[in-house]
Amino acid sequence: MNSHALIEAADRCVLCGLCSSHCPTYKLFREEGESPRGRVMMSVALLRGEMEPSKRLVAHLDHCLLCRACEKSCPSGVPYGEILDGAHAMLPSPAGAAYWLEQIALRPRLVALLADGAALWRRLRLPLTALGRAATSRLPKAGRVSSHYPAVGKKLGKVGLFLGCVAGPFDRQTHRDAATLLSRLGYEVTVPQGQQCCGALPQHHGNPERAKQLNRMNQEAFGGQQLDAIIFTSSGCGVQLVEKGDLPAPAMEICQFLLQSPGLDRLLFSPLPQQITLHHPCSLGNVLRGNRAVEALLERIPKIKITLLGPDGGCCGAAGSHRLREPETADLLRQPKVESLLAAESTMLLSTNYGCALHLAEGIEKMGATVEVVHPVTLLVRQLDSRPSIRCRGSIASVVRGNDEVTGNNEAT
Ligand code: SF4
Ligand code: SF4
Repeated sequence: MNSHALIEAADRCVLCGLCSSHCPTYKLFREEGESPRGRVMMSVALLRGEMEPSKRLVAHLDHCLLCRACEKSCPSGVPYGEILDGAHAMLPSPAGAAYWLEQIALRPRLVALLADGAALWRRLRLPLTALGRAATSRLPKAGRVSSHYPAVGKKLGKVGLFLGCVAGPFDRQTHRDAATLLSRLGYEVTVPQGQQCCGALPQHHGNPERAKQLNRMNQEAFGGQQLDAIIFTSSGCGVQLVEKGDLPAPAMEICQFLLQSPGLDRLLFSPLPQQITLHHPCSLGNVLRGNRAVEALLERIPKIKITLLGPDGGCCGAAGSHRLREPETADLLRQPKVESLLAAESTMLLSTNYGCALHLAEGIEKMGATVEVVHPVTLLVRQLDSRPSIRCRGSIASVVRGNDEVTGNNEAT
């Protein structure tokens, strides 16, 4: 949208303030400048040229997590994310750690080298920070993600697998597990080598032209292959692909894709009589609306008991480069979640967003606790039952939401 269209869209805001009670930064700071309504007004003033980008204004806009809980709750349909991106394009580019994250993320060979170096560092048992341990935990010893996985059994179609700039080299375990599930379902999986960052970092850092350039490279990488879908495993990247990608095939979150696949009953899972906690990233819940798909997929594991990460489902504080720009706020937002996880006494935490998973894993370590943090597809692969048929009639999976328990019969026949 151009400035004129953004101002028109922002005019839909009737200043009702309903969004504020959903906004994590407003709940923390109780200031109008830290509320969605305040930020929409500041963005419009900037776009109209009525306000200068003062230090205070820039700080209020920079504190936004872009979690889009406000957008989901807005009765007037104000496209908050678009408006904030438009305002950021008028501000100076971020400096410091956020700047360096973007510079590194846009250099795939450098990220791959860093991942290899980190894997070696871990193998040599050299000291790592809590974040370093979390980041290296998903580098499987068996090596890289292949460029091609053939369909197992009757072929249902062909999909592309999107990796992401940092998650590509670092979150190899998740990508390999995603490819395993897809191929076992009957999909041929291609992982184009020319693919790039989704563009979310430059998009939210006020550089939409750079984001478009990356998008064109991804269009080319996934083009000419007759794909049924382009699958992503990290929902934060997925939002950018879904909203801005215009890719040669529909971009789909892995769990949403698996759940709607006609071959899903081919996948049978061994029982897991354990308490698991599930984190729903803002990108998945507020934008992609995929929470239920992840839950429904996990409910296919007999006897699993799932608790949603508390206390209120709001942002964990990771939020793209927010964790680097505002580490204190990020820690404040994370702390109650880690406490709620530890109180639930779960053996594992699942999250569909790589950045959130790292941030939460770091918080768990800092509390001196040990809870494994993995993507839901990793748990699904661990529970995959290779036998041709298994009967688990009567096993019940349950998802606990606050005080309500929703049970689902997940019979496997
Ligand atoms: S953004 Fe939406 S919910 Fe928030 S004040 Fe404006 S109209 Fe109300
Ligand atoms: S995107 Fe999230 S942090 Fe930003 S204003 Fe909306 S609710 Fe608040």
